[in-house]
Amino acid sequence: MARLKDAVARAYLTRLVGEDGLTIVEKAPKGEATDEKVAEVTGVSLNTVRRALYILYENGLASYRRERDKDSGWLTYLWKIDLSNIYEVLDAEMRKLLKILQKRLETEKNSMFYACVDGCGRFLFELAAGTNFVCPICGATLEYQDNTELVKALEKRVKEIQKCTI
Ligand SMILES: [Zn+2]
Repeated sequence: MARLKDAVARAYLTRLVGEDGLTIVEKAPKGEATDEKVAEVTGVSLNTVRRALYILYENGLASYRRERDKDSGWLTYLWKIDLSNIYEVLDAEMRKLLKILQKRLETEKNSMFYACVDGCGRFLFELAAGTNFVCPICGATLEYQDNTELVKALEKRVKEIQKCTI
């Protein structure tokens, strides 16, 4: 398989199956092959190959076929890496991320936050008011936290992702 040029696809695959997994994707035989053959061709250990193939399979980027050897009766698994779905997979990932970010953005826009001056965390107004603006963890003061910049950053990220989805 040719070296993957697409940076987004490469980054996604690296996150999914690691650097060794990416090597497998790029160097594995084009057609069907056993895991042993893939390990031999790519120079990656058999365990890593098996793990990567299974993860690719779970994400719709590889398939396998079982074949019984006529003489020995052993089952052989023939694997095939197929990245033709990768843009749909990536798109689905992006949509998932977009939903999470949009939900976070809504929360940030519609809530007031108070943060512990000693850095324990940030709390919603309702909770902060309930403890008289005292940190429930350490007892320090809770101060109003302006989240305008965070909202702006989230909005920017949401727009960027919306541009990328199909
Ligand atoms: Zn605190």
